[in-house]
Amino acid sequence: MYDFTYTSQPSKVIFAAGALARVGEEVQALGAEKALVLCTPEQEAQATAVAELLGPLSAGVFAEAKMHVPIETARRARDHARSVGADCAVAIGGGSTVGLGKAIALESSLPIIAIPTTYAGSEMTPIYGLTEDGLKRTGRDARVLPKTVIYDPMLSSSLPLGLSFVSGLNAIAHAAEGLYARDGNPVMSLMAEDGIRALATGLRGLKTDPQNLSARSDCLYGAWLCGSVLGHVGMALHHKLCHTLGGSFNLPHAETHAIVLPHALAYNSDAAHDAMNRIARALGSENAALGVFELGRELNIPSGLREIGMQESDLDRACDIALANPYWNPRPIEREPLRSLLQDAWNGKPPRV
Ligand code: NAD
Repeated sequence: MYDFTYTSQPSKVIFAAGALARVGEEVQALGAEKALVLCTPEQEAQATAVAELLGPLSAGVFAEAKMHVPIETARRARDHARSVGADCAVAIGGGSTVGLGKAIALESSLPIIAIPTTYAGSEMTPIYGLTEDGLKRTGRDARVLPKTVIYDPMLSSSLPLGLSFVSGLNAIAHAAEGLYARDGNPVMSLMAEDGIRALATGLRGLKTDPQNLSARSDCLYGAWLCGSVLGHVGMALHHKLCHTLGGSFNLPHAETHAIVLPHALAYNSDAAHDAMNRIARALGSENAALGVFELGRELNIPSGLREIGMQESDLDRACDIALANPYWNPRPIEREPLRSLLQDAWNGKPPRV
């Protein structure tokens, strides 16, 4: 029997190869006249091309976006936006750049146009993160949700293949946990299942032919769906665990998600049958956790946390931190199975199904 509450998030989404060309139109559609373009130092050339495309609508480029949005960077960006008279920000890049746009919007309500070039999904969520004194705090605020999102698969073609694969699995994690979310709803479940299917198809297509634009389009379409799920419903064990591992042990975001996901799904498998069936079906596999693990193997992602800088001696502490702040999960979080999950993820073993 259906029983749900669904509130949709208001944002305009434009999806097409070549859609970047419409950025000026979209700045004007927001009633803005001076758009500050945000990016990481690595993507400055791409951002400069956007500023050129904007012509007189450009307020220049701010190329200091960094992973986890340090508060000092956010303050500098806000001051810079004010000093150049920006009335809009265009964030071109991954979750780190979109995160910087959100940090500006949080205090100034400056409208954000996001142009995602990874599959992280931040552009579809009202969730922000800011890091101060080594501690990352996250929150939800409707002001940070980008007003317009331009998805152009041509822009993700430059994303290195390895990063594309782990980023795609990061997106799959949003959909997988959305399928068993406490506040889940049928619309998000449709989007989640199709998002996983599109990403699995697109990632496999990229593995066969890294230049395949249609595969890039599938991946980005999946990222949109999975990012929407992340923006609409709550997450559980997998996301909390990755937040702990990333924040306390400085592990890379997308790789951590890609490695932990099969184990988190195995942990929850008996408590979320319908979700697991849908994940497995979307992957074309018999089992959700094994399906994700095998997809990771197929894509040659790092096989365990030990390969991405986690020390085995830190696993007990990671377990303590993950247990310290209780949160909802379909299966209760208990020390012993959680510790085994971390050990398996560290070793790169198959999930226990
Ligand atoms: P990222 O934004 O840190 O990008 C990783 C690197 O790849 C950067 O150097 C970037 O410049 C480069 N890059 C991105 N796109 C490229 C392209 N097309 N070509 C070449 N290089 C490219 O990585 P990410 O995984 O997208 O984002 C991770 C961050 O986003 C984390 O801090 C995470 O917490 C946050 N995040 C937030 C949300 C949210 O809803 N608030 C959701 C997902 C992720």
